[in-house]
Amino acid sequence: MQSKADTHIHTTYSDGAVAPETLVDYVVEQTDLQVIAVTDHDTAEGGLAAQAYARQRRLPLDVIVGQEVTTDEGDIVALFVHKSLPAFHSARAAVQAIHAQGGLAIAVHPFSAWASLGKMAGVGRLLAHLPLDGVEIRNGFPTNTLSNRLTQWINRRGPRLSELGGSDSHVPHTVGQAFTWFPGRSAADLRRALLARRTRAGGPLWTPASLCAALPLLRGAGLPAYEHTHVYGDEPAAPGDPHIAQPGATRPRPSWAEFSQKP
Ligand SMILES: [Zn+2]
Ligand SMILES: [Zn+2]
Repeated sequence: MQSKADTHIHTTYSDGAVAPETLVDYVVEQTDLQVIAVTDHDTAEGGLAAQAYARQRRLPLDVIVGQEVTTDEGDIVALFVHKSLPAFHSARAAVQAIHAQGGLAIAVHPFSAWASLGKMAGVGRLLAHLPLDGVEIRNGFPTNTLSNRLTQWINRRGPRLSELGGSDSHVPHTVGQAFTWFPGRSAADLRRALLARRTRAGGPLWTPASLCAALPLLRGAGLPAYEHTHVYGDEPAAPGDPHIAQPGATRPRPSWAEFSQKP
């Protein structure tokens, strides 16, 4: 049997509009997804909260703990991680840190049409040179329709990475608009399929209602401003830094909750 996963969703732990629990309830009640990955910017806490909620209630939904890792060379989604990763200057360092946790590294919106505006940066042609586990060839944002086609074209002529679809949802109504088909039913099945290159991307499937739900995102309105002050994992922390656990260690990235409490 083939199932559907949405491997790119944001919650209030970064710049998404709803809490992880609300997201999980919505997915179970309103969609045909068997698996989701919560991939907040710069923190895995949203994914951990969503996974704990689904497990405690024994809901028929597998939640993968993920994170959208910021790098100077473009965004990389980590899937199957256990704790938050910092930002990185180099995309290669991010992929290595994801793999060190046993996670999978996915290039998302690699040729995003929004990259020139300083948003949604992707790794672009690095796609062919990084030790990635997959590439998002269908990003759900309506602005990425053309760059999705370019990504698929390049992937099939070059690196031939496992192909994924992810909605990049920041509001529940767009969850599942782009998705990933995989053989099986569980998060473990999806992981196996990714490693065996047996996934297929689906969507984006826009309806008038979901397009309306996404409009505030395109205008940049209605969501908390996301603060991009990164602590990088591939440079040594400053001496005297209170976050230093031991000499040479790097600082953990503060959670969204810590950010939003800042004056
Ligand atoms: Zn992104
Ligand atoms: Zn995203």
